[in-house]
Amino acid sequence: MHVIAPQAVDTLIRLLSGDGYEVVGPTRRDGAIVYDRVGGLEDLPVGWTDEQAPGHYRLRERDDDALFGYVVGPHSWKKYLFPPEETLFRLTRQPDGSFVTEPGPSDAPRRAFIGMRACELAAIDVQDRVFLGQAVQDRGYAARRRDLFMVAVSCAEPGGTCFCASMDTGPRAREGFDLALTEVIDATQHFLVAEAGSDAGRAMLDRLEPRPASDTEQAAAERVWAEAPSMMGRSMPGDAREVLNRAFEHPRWEETAERCLSCSNCTLVCPTCFCSQVEEVPDLEGQRTERVRRWDSCFNQEHSHLVGGPHRESVAARYRQWITHKLATWHDQFGTSGCVGCGRCITWCPVGIDITEEVTAVRRDPEGRG
Ligand code: SF4
Ligand code: SF4
Repeated sequence: MHVIAPQAVDTLIRLLSGDGYEVVGPTRRDGAIVYDRVGGLEDLPVGWTDEQAPGHYRLRERDDDALFGYVVGPHSWKKYLFPPEETLFRLTRQPDGSFVTEPGPSDAPRRAFIGMRACELAAIDVQDRVFLGQAVQDRGYAARRRDLFMVAVSCAEPGGTCFCASMDTGPRAREGFDLALTEVIDATQHFLVAEAGSDAGRAMLDRLEPRPASDTEQAAAERVWAEAPSMMGRSMPGDAREVLNRAFEHPRWEETAERCLSCSNCTLVCPTCFCSQVEEVPDLEGQRTERVRRWDSCFNQEHSHLVGGPHRESVAARYRQWITHKLATWHDQFGTSGCVGCGRCITWCPVGIDITEEVTAVRRDPEGRG
């Protein structure tokens, strides 16, 4: 373990930019912390924190200069690896009437992600299984994933809707990163403990001129890791998969549907949801067409359109599909949970529906007797 000064994060961003990376990290915009290009420390939300609860998100100024004193916002890294809209291929009519097919542009700049939380590393592992772990790999995702440089941050102050500790995906970043940082800040000290997770991370850490962590500094980082889980606002029951597998006809889904607006916010903010639709976009002369993929949601009625119409017509059916897929059948399909406990779907649900509360309610009353 090594120690770097807060200012070294600025050096890190500038070195990565100089090496040709497009550096993306947390920044403050429109009253939220979102992910966008960053050029230095001045772009990070230094001295800010977020307050999160079901259907509630507010930024507040901190009384210190913490670099990473907040948790996750409405954006996830998904928007870079699996963009909301992507041209998959183009067909162009030739003079002899045949068509030439070209792959869509591969939007794959070398990117560095700064400030990734442990739950977000886990979410990328989940999406890797979806897009790369099947018989056919997703070409665009593979290209965007290949040369990533990932700088993780272990959460020191989890939020009110976080529950990654109960999903075993955080809050300490343990693997899947090039560099991991743990921020230690109090009235007398402010430093970051840095760990390399790859050769590229080790080489970059050397360029930041770190010094070995003393026993006291190491103990301070260990305190952060030990205390953070107890600050989580929520917890998912460990037997969620079994509970939901037995609850297909549970009356809870109708009750939840009375509140659910079927707005799809929960799926759009979720770092693992991958539903999409494809559309043909032809030109007016009929000479060229593009096949475009866009994010979709299982909360949209038309997403379940098969022969004869949608087969999940009710909101209850769509809510049940989402929660049982996330926490139960995802295991059967991809060998892991589809939920990493980031809490975004709870915070950004306009009516505050809480995935942990839903599972707890069904678990408490498995027969739905009320
Ligand atoms: S289901 Fe909710 S808590 Fe789980 S990963 Fe998706 S947004 Fe995060
Ligand atoms: S659970 Fe909440 S966020 Fe999701 S579709 Fe329903 S109202 Fe929208």
